[in-house]
Amino acid sequence: MGRVIRDPYGRVLDYVRISVTDRCNFRCVYCMPEDGIDWMPHEKILSYEDILFLCRVLAEMGVKRIRFTGGEPFVRKGFVSFMEEVRRTLPTLRLTVTTNGSMLAEQADRIASLGLDSLNVSLDTLNEDKFRKTTRTGELGAVIRGIDAVLLAKNPPVKINAVIMRGFNEDEIPSLVNFASERGILLRLIEFMPLDGNVWAGTRFVGAEEMLAALPGGPLWQALPGGPADSCGPSRYYRNEKTGQRVGIISAVSNHFCGQCNRLRISSTGEVLPCLFSSSGYSLGEVVKDRDRQGVERIVLKAAASKPESGDTGLPGAGGPAEEERHMSRIGG
Ligand code: SAM
Ligand code: SF4
Repeated sequence: MGRVIRDPYGRVLDYVRISVTDRCNFRCVYCMPEDGIDWMPHEKILSYEDILFLCRVLAEMGVKRIRFTGGEPFVRKGFVSFMEEVRRTLPTLRLTVTTNGSMLAEQADRIASLGLDSLNVSLDTLNEDKFRKTTRTGELGAVIRGIDAVLLAKNPPVKINAVIMRGFNEDEIPSLVNFASERGILLRLIEFMPLDGNVWAGTRFVGAEEMLAALPGGPLWQALPGGPADSCGPSRYYRNEKTGQRVGIISAVSNHFCGQCNRLRISSTGEVLPCLFSSSGYSLGEVVKDRDRQGVERIVLKAAASKPESGDTGLPGAGGPAEEERHMSRIGG
């Protein structure tokens, strides 16, 4: 067996999520406040060369899969060219991207040709008004055009991620299931997570059990054993016995299955976060800029060594109020 990164609980950490920017063209209600956001100054953000160097070192340390996220990764200039470079340099690394889908249509052919292991598109509602209200700036049509354009270009493994919130889209579960079924793509329903005290509203929370009960066809949905651990939290997959469609439910809050967590997160400024719910991390900025391989390894191993056995959501009712500074856009989901 080659090198692996292991935490104190014996978990192998072979999946790293890297945020390439904290900026976004949307302002989703569950992710960031409408205004007053202090973006990271450009000079603090890792350059693409820095990130590529980091990916190389991580791959040497045993990381098998990297997900690029944001903010919105496609708003960072040159993101597609950067991905092409990563693909050329590290051909065996499994590459995935999480996006709001708003900019997919413009470069669908190139994106579809990246050979991504998965392209996760966030889409919470199929209603134009609601979409505008949730994203505050987005246009639903652009996202659907983007999804269809990449599917048409090469049919890459697209997944839809939908955060389900009470009083907003819990009634849309059947239409989202149908949307995914029509396109032959996987839908994952995500519990609203208490990451930022400014946007969290406990009354909006819908748990995994309730989402499962809302799947059209009721008892036809049978739990699949295991399931790929490639979500932003513990996920459970269900298969419709009649249609064969699969749906995932990601319940980072109600089912705290941290036992299988295999990931580390790196912010756009190069801070390694041992857990999604960590409020601070370990800075890689300097060692990355110095191209100090051993320094990167030392800090990544330090972060791995401090990974908690299970994350503290800080959810009222499951802990205290959420931290104010843990914007999902900084952590990358
Ligand atoms: N901008 C990209 C996007 O929206 O897909 C990538 C970054 S976004 C922070 C990554 C994921 O986090 C998205 O699927 C989004 O729905 C999810 N997310 C953001 N805030 C969340 C919250 N409070 N609870 C659950 N999921 C959240
Ligand atoms: Fe932007 Fe993604 Fe956050 Fe929405 S969820 S505001 S698209 S980073």
